[in-house]
Amino acid sequence: MKLQGKTALVTGSTSGIGLAVAKAVAAEGASLMINGFGDVEAIEAERQALEQTSGAHVLHDGADLFDPAQIAAMVERCSAELGAPDILINNAGIQHVAPVDEFPVEKWDAILQINLSAVFHTTRLCLPAMKEKGWGRIINTASAHSLVASPNKSAYVAAKHGVAGFTKSVALEIAEAGITINCISPGYVWTPLVEKQIPDTMKARGMTREEVMNDVLLKAQPTKRFVTVEEVAALALFLTGDGAASITGANLSMDGGWTAQ
Ligand code: NAD
Repeated sequence: MKLQGKTALVTGSTSGIGLAVAKAVAAEGASLMINGFGDVEAIEAERQALEQTSGAHVLHDGADLFDPAQIAAMVERCSAELGAPDILINNAGIQHVAPVDEFPVEKWDAILQINLSAVFHTTRLCLPAMKEKGWGRIINTASAHSLVASPNKSAYVAAKHGVAGFTKSVALEIAEAGITINCISPGYVWTPLVEKQIPDTMKARGMTREEVMNDVLLKAQPTKRFVTVEEVAALALFLTGDGAASITGANLSMDGGWTAQ
């Protein structure tokens, strides 16, 4: 259990990639704060399961990352009840698909706040304690869309490119402090979010499940298979370790060759 005695804060960890990352971190014995929305009982069941896995305290905080004040309260609570985060995983994210001249202004604002500005807020709030300890790991779930674009995703692509740029800039600021900051950039990952899109697309386009998967979702992904949440979690876990001490400011693609094209 190589993360025993460390505290990890994983945003957007009640579902999908974030939950898998939380499980991986818990399996190494870290104290953990999970965050995100969902069914209260289901979240409590996950919290208890994570606590059993790690043998350390696990808390859930329902902070809405749209709101900087709630982000600050979450980081403060984590520091007070678990210890200041040694590992910060900025994973929460939302998507909206529409042409730019029809893009709802409130959706643009929400995507920029949750996918980009929240990364700034958690990072600025967690860094002082990491600097004091001379050790820290910050891992941002970006996306293939931090490197390349797709139409109708202007806010998401702008926010994810922003996360990649933010990561590089902060990496230079903290390079000598024993703290690393990196992005993981997955292609299409098999999460409930993606699964939910399949029946609607089958109906709308008169396609089979396989056609939707291969000709729509995995069109850009040469491996023609979804990235798994466990694969993303394994890379995140590697980045928390000593073997990754010299990896900083990097944008690590895990996209089945998407951005190699
Ligand atoms: P998901 O919808 O399964 O999980 C998103 C998590 O963020 C949930 O826990 C949700 O409750 C939380 N969340 C949403 N809005 C929030 C808010 N305002 N405040 C706090 N928490 C909030 O999605 P996922 O597919 O696991 O995505 C996780 C991250 O991975 C996102 O940043 C996403 O952009 C990125 N990503 C996903 C894929 C993919 O194909 N699934 C690909 C590349 C990048």
